[in-house]
Amino acid sequence: MFTLPDLPYAYNALEPYIDERTMQIHHGKHHAAYVKNLNDALATIQQSDKLTIQQLLGDLSKVPEEIQTKVRNNAGGHANHSLFWQVMSPNLKGESRRPSGELVKAIDAVFGSFEKFQEQFTAAGMGRFGSGWVWLVADPSTSSGQVKLTIVDTPNQDSPLMDGKTPILGLDVWEHAYYLKYQNMRADYIKAWWNVVNWKEVEKRFTTA
Ligand code: MN
Repeated sequence: MFTLPDLPYAYNALEPYIDERTMQIHHGKHHAAYVKNLNDALATIQQSDKLTIQQLLGDLSKVPEEIQTKVRNNAGGHANHSLFWQVMSPNLKGESRRPSGELVKAIDAVFGSFEKFQEQFTAAGMGRFGSGWVWLVADPSTSSGQVKLTIVDTPNQDSPLMDGKTPILGLDVWEHAYYLKYQNMRADYIKAWWNVVNWKEVEKRFTTA
């Protein structure tokens, strides 16, 4: 059984950038529904062993066909939102509002600068038609042996884990993530979201990848 993780902060902690009501519904209704629907789907099959969320998403062809779409959508939803809550944080000041260490070196090397990275990431979020996500992913499978950073966007609840890539930062651009406060103005939501990115957590995930 998968369970809904607690938010690492209060529902109102990301105000004024992400409003309390949106966080309540997003975590308590949307994410909770992905967890329930995933458990319901898995309960209909005989499982020889308990698979982790990474194992489920990493090889969906191993999931029985009759529940594959449900698992794809709901395991994806569970994994994506579990990461999303962690890569945001309230009360970020000064240096904590920017990446540092090895991560900023990698960002500079790939994108030119942090500002250029933000522009590209924002553009990917604006360009994702309909519901989906934008990601900064670490791809450790490069020939140089170096972890490669790339920006990718995925439809619906698809996860970079489905392509063997490790997401280290993710932005939910489903309307349910912003519509109450920002209505159709996705650009304003993304601009505000940069204020709550938890770079320490992103760096931790980069180092692990
Ligand atoms: Mn969402």
